[in-house]
Amino acid sequence: MSSCVSLFIFTQAYDIPRLRQDVLDCFYHCYNDEQDYGGFLLGAWDHGIAYGKTAPSSPIRKLLVDAYRMFMIDDHGGKVTNITEHPKEFLLDVLQSYVDATPKQIQTPYESTGLNPCDYYEHASKAEQQACKIRVKF
Ligand SMILES: [Zn+2]
Repeated sequence: MSSCVSLFIFTQAYDIPRLRQDVLDCFYHCYNDEQDYGGFLLGAWDHGIAYGKTAPSSPIRKLLVDAYRMFMIDDHGGKVTNITEHPKEFLLDVLQSYVDATPKQIQTPYESTGLNPCDYYEHASKAEQQACKIRVKF
């Protein structure tokens, strides 16, 4: 999935919103559907790239933070053991996501929420969001 981080940055640099949605769909699939995460884990290095090349409002930042909070896994192949390698700004966003989460989201993070691609698509309106479909099926 490291290449997805780079591709997302590319879509921002060249303003390709449909491809950006496809990249977000790829993240969604890897986190929500794949479930064994083999080969899909992101870690401190990827978070550093994403945070170094995107604005604070970027949907990829929100997605990486939400996924980290929900699944608490990283590219060391399992449960998070060392958070000090991650960018400080990322860790602050993770902490803020805990503050903003509902008690149910924290108690049963994966079962209660999962990831919803629409939360990251940057829809221009509610109507657009309601008409939205995930375009990429794996
Ligand atoms: Zn949508």
